[in-house]
Amino acid sequence: MSAAIPASEDNSKPIDRVLAHLEGVHRSGAGWMAKCSHHDDRQASLSIREADDGKVLLHCHAGCDTTSVVTSAGLAFVDLFPPGSRERFKPRTWLGTIPMGPNGRPALESFGDDRTATLLGELARLAKVRGTLDKRIVDALRVVGESLGVSREQLAGAARAAISTEDPA
Ligand SMILES: [Zn+2]
Repeated sequence: MSAAIPASEDNSKPIDRVLAHLEGVHRSGAGWMAKCSHHDDRQASLSIREADDGKVLLHCHAGCDTTSVVTSAGLAFVDLFPPGSRERFKPRTWLGTIPMGPNGRPALESFGDDRTATLLGELARLAKVRGTLDKRIVDALRVVGESLGVSREQLAGAARAAISTEDPA
């Protein structure tokens, strides 16, 4: 097991985790409404629902995309999924949370340190799930590395260590 456990690895219910990160939460019908974390929201435009499988569904009625809402709330996309959910570990689920810059490369300017650390953990997990460090992972590691001031080799080494030492997901 790795020493550092990202916040997204805790075992609390996704709905509790998400609601705890939002402001102005109140019940509404079968779900909740809250202030959208991504825009200057005075009307509680964000609707939150818990799906039958425990997954959290978010919708900003002002039109913010879900990734931006999640990121602005200090959460990772995987936080919307229950622990052990297969969807949670699908590479596309969280690769889709990485803002893409020009040339289709990950743009991490919008990530604070905590999110970068979380992203790193998720990169390592993807490497583990795939059992290899493919080009997209390596590219992402390089960009993360630049933002953290460490080399891609160091990060790739950390990801390889994660592959070899962690139990299968
Ligand atoms: Zn919004």
